[in-house]
Amino acid sequence: MSQSKLHHDTQPEADVLIVHGPLQPASVLVLDSPHSGRVMPADFRAALSHEDLRDGEDEYIDELYWPAAELGIPVLAAQFPRTYIDANRHAADIDLDLLDAPWPHHHEPSGKAGIGKALLWRTLDDGRNIYNRQLSVAEVASRIERFHQPYHRTLRQLMDAAHHAHGQVVHINCHSMNAVAGVMGEGGAGTARADFVLGDRHGTTCSAEVTHFVRDQLLAHGYSVKINDPFAGVELVRAYSNPAIGRHSLQLEINKRLYMDQGTGLKLAHFAVLQRQLMQMLRAMQQHFG
Ligand SMILES: [Zn+2]
Repeated sequence: MSQSKLHHDTQPEADVLIVHGPLQPASVLVLDSPHSGRVMPADFRAALSHEDLRDGEDEYIDELYWPAAELGIPVLAAQFPRTYIDANRHAADIDLDLLDAPWPHHHEPSGKAGIGKALLWRTLDDGRNIYNRQLSVAEVASRIERFHQPYHRTLRQLMDAAHHAHGQVVHINCHSMNAVAGVMGEGGAGTARADFVLGDRHGTTCSAEVTHFVRDQLLAHGYSVKINDPFAGVELVRAYSNPAIGRHSLQLEINKRLYMDQGTGLKLAHFAVLQRQLMQMLRAMQQHFG
């Protein structure tokens, strides 16, 4: 599998992000996986074990989409865990309760701090505290600069490249979700989830044509699909989309029970089946959208 190096003055380190496939998208499609990273930064200084800190991880999601690179589709994958800093948040979505001093920069709360899941998470899905300390302003600012900004810059560059070359871009923001919501989970504790949840922030981040095309592809394989319920999409589908000028972003959440055993953490045989179905969907999207 090819891995592209970024040609940029401030090229991110390999422990920040990897782009599988080309930097020049062969079609309108660009994929990103912000939550499958598992390289623990040395300065995390969390109170929990590395295993516990993988709690919010979208396990295997980067691997699931790797074959897309062979279709000329770039797959941007974060290498850092989302519990360290969540790429799918606005950089100003700071949880003030985590800090040992007032935040001196722009503050734009999304409400995610209320469930412990702002830019820097305070709690795991089961409600346990990630830290037994408060974080310094410099520490948080450093995580934004070294991890969050390069990830966002790279996604924007890939989307710009597709848009420029092909007249539009269809960005799929790739995630997975627990089969059942936890104590702090979206949708309410104990809620069983559909096979797939598509999020277009209620029709604002991509055209209905994109959302319905993906929905119909998944329904054809017999999967259950919900739209914007309970996940409508967060920052990565919002930030660089603008359907009016052909910039489309759609969040795609896959139920983990389709491809892994959440008890053992191992992949199921259905992983390969799902992977083939998703590649089939991407090829259909390339034919339809260009
Ligand atoms: Zn995710």
